[in-house]
Amino acid sequence: MQNTGLYWFTNDLRLDDNLALAQTAARVNQMLCVYVVDPAWFTPNRYGQKSMGNCRWRFLQQTLVDLTQALEAFGQQLLIIHESPLDAIAKLITQYDIRALFRSQNAGFYENQLWQTLQCRYRSINFEELATHTLFSIHALPFSLADFPDTFFKFRKRVEPLVNNVVISSLTHLPPPPKEKRWSTISRLPLARESGDSLLFIGGASGAKSHLLGYFSTLLPSTYKQVRNALDGWDNSTKFSPWLANGSISVKQILSALRYYEHDVKASESTYWIQFELLWREYFQWLAHAHQAKLFIRSGIRQKKVLTTFYPERFQRWCQGNTPCPIVNACMNQLNATGYMSNRGRQIVASYFVNELNLDWRYGAAYFEQQLIDYDVAVNWGNWQYLAGVGADPRGRRWFDMDKQTKRYDPDKSFIIKWCGEGHDESLDSVDAADWPMIKSDSAIIKE
Ligand SMILES: Cc1cc2nc3c(=O)[nH]c(=O)nc-3n(C[C@H](O)[C@H](O)[C@H](O)COP(=O)(O)OP(=O)(O)OC[C@H]3O[C@@H](n4cnc5c(N)ncnc54)[C@H](O)[C@@H]3O)c2cc1C
Repeated sequence: MQNTGLYWFTNDLRLDDNLALAQTAARVNQMLCVYVVDPAWFTPNRYGQKSMGNCRWRFLQQTLVDLTQALEAFGQQLLIIHESPLDAIAKLITQYDIRALFRSQNAGFYENQLWQTLQCRYRSINFEELATHTLFSIHALPFSLADFPDTFFKFRKRVEPLVNNVVISSLTHLPPPPKEKRWSTISRLPLARESGDSLLFIGGASGAKSHLLGYFSTLLPSTYKQVRNALDGWDNSTKFSPWLANGSISVKQILSALRYYEHDVKASESTYWIQFELLWREYFQWLAHAHQAKLFIRSGIRQKKVLTTFYPERFQRWCQGNTPCPIVNACMNQLNATGYMSNRGRQIVASYFVNELNLDWRYGAAYFEQQLIDYDVAVNWGNWQYLAGVGADPRGRRWFDMDKQTKRYDPDKSFIIKWCGEGHDESLDSVDAADWPMIKSDSAIIKE
């Protein structure tokens, strides 16, 4: 009798170093490979934003094409379905008499709810998920999620000694798909608009691998720590984040390449710092696993009351890069054009959003979710909470001085000029607290 398993690709869009996929291949003799594109990603959510903006969608489409080709080389196919995940997976379970369902472990609350709903509905099916998005598995962590460290410092102290030999695996075989099926539905998906600005990021495991090889074949890892805070420039940070976010590459693949570099070229403070930043990513992943729905509530994981409100006009102006602050505008224009912003830029615009515009941080996080090609549920919402003072920052709220940031990171204003940050309206609001139009100084005085 055929034992058909369903492999649900989610945040692990690669074949190599994919433990969950390899385990599935070992357990079943027919395998249905599926990716579900949720139509809800393209409709406004509770913050009025889409989850999936154009840049991220284009990057994801490229990734799916690449994954399809990689699977075909193993005699497999990728079924891409444009439907609500619950309906899509439920239909496939019935249609193909699925006995086992596998996926990569996910930090997201919504993704976990879906999984649990399916488990409740189909009690006779074997459900299995394995860690492919993180460096550690839950069992390898030196603490339980209930005792999860409340700061990165405590986390790092405990896990750093465990980052030794990084073992990565390659895929050797995949069982075939159920016989009667031939499919490819990628052309029926929503279209992504072309934009010339983010062409350096090519979605997919092939693009990820060539970027990995390219990066570690230069001497850039040896200067990473000195330049990582730059606002612009392809070479100033690793640029692994978009591929890591959708799982075109694994954190272990990066760490393994880093170890080779340290062995063959040189280990330094800079190479250590790449691992340090990847541990930040790891921290946010497990923080999200530990706190689930609290990642999305206004008072955050700290359950702290915040005194921000919502000004629709300020929010719009921040999104559009049209605030009185040039460096914020430049960063937002860069994000809107490319789907990417440096870590320093993200800190600057988030601090401005929370502290100077006094806006509810969740709207900023939702806008990032829509725009970033490297959007990762745990890293994005965790960082926003951190900056808003409701998350894992032991120091509380971070308030960046915009003038100082500009002088330090853009002293000659070349970044501001490149990304058209100047020349915007100097006032923050067009109406006052009583909803009267704010009158601009000169034009206000009507001379007879
Ligand atoms: C408000 C805010 C929102 C963010 N949202 C996201 C997001 O949705 N997805 C995302 O991948 N990163 C996010 N970051 C983290 C960081 O800005 C990006 O990972 C980084 O800029 C990506 O560029 P890079 O790969 O060149 O990073 P590098 O500086 O080269 O760092 C190497 C890797 O370390 C990890 N890393 C670096 N900085 C951080 C950080 N602050 N937190 C966690 N991991 C980090 C990333 O995986 C990154 O690829 C956010 C940061 C802030 C302040």
